[in-house]
Amino acid sequence: EYLIEIKNLHKYFGKTEVLKGLDIQIQKGEVVVMIGPSGSGKSTFLRTMNLLEKPTKGEVYFEGTNIADKSVDVFKHREKMGMVFQQFNLFPNMTVLENLSLAPVKTGKMDKTQAVEKATQLLERVGLADKAQAYPQSLSGGQQQRVAIARALAMNPEVMLFDEPTSALDPEMVGEVLNVMQELAKEGMTMVIVTHEMGFAKNVADRVLFMADGVIVEEGKPIDLFENP
Ligand code: ADP
Ligand code: ADP
Repeated sequence: EYLIEIKNLHKYFGKTEVLKGLDIQIQKGEVVVMIGPSGSGKSTFLRTMNLLEKPTKGEVYFEGTNIADKSVDVFKHREKMGMVFQQFNLFPNMTVLENLSLAPVKTGKMDKTQAVEKATQLLERVGLADKAQAYPQSLSGGQQQRVAIARALAMNPEVMLFDEPTSALDPEMVGEVLNVMQELAKEGMTMVIVTHEMGFAKNVADRVLFMADGVIVEEGKPIDLFENP
């Protein structure tokens, strides 16, 4: 029984086919890293998982429900799939604490006290307990991305999706973000990660998918893929 089961997924933008029939199964707790050239459809795939893009054809089962069905509540679905973007996407005019507590309160998932408690725990976990009252623009890129991860976790998602989370960072900040992601993986979070960080793929992924031109061209355990032939 898979947590996510994708069957023959196609995505078109106009007449351009960007995803060309993907079949992917993901188990609960699995860490899947997707790599591949720019423009191959990795970002579109993640955005489709989160219903930021609508599948054109095919099925995407999540906890047994086909999220491509019109009847699916997009916002409820997104609550279960936390997403982290290359460009952080924090709310600039809110403090870090407000960034973390907004969605849980707004969706009625938690009351204000619970949300603040949860946010405080998460900030501790990502090493930013002292930044609760700071505004995003006063933080480094690495700190902002750790806040973005904490914000996604504040909703208690079932799955975390990462779209090149370290690509916009100065090199010295990449490690602090990858460390947080590695911790999450160890704790059993189901994760789908698009990244160019091969060391991370090799050390943390349960499975690596190579995407090229809208299809998975190779997949396997990192130990099998990264060993010399
Ligand atoms: P990757 O993440 O692998 O770099 P993307 O999923 O971002 O690839 O893009 C795959 C292809 O889809 C690219 O050719 C890109 O220009 C195109 N594309 C992505 N989003 C859109 C969109 N909203 N409208 C039209 N074309 C798009
Ligand atoms: P990334 O570097 O993360 O792949 P892009 O610069 O490719 O991001 O895309 C940024 C945004 O523009 C995304 O929302 C993507 O869907 C959209 N986009 C990408 N390519 C196209 C395109 N050819 N036409 C319209 N929108 C696009």
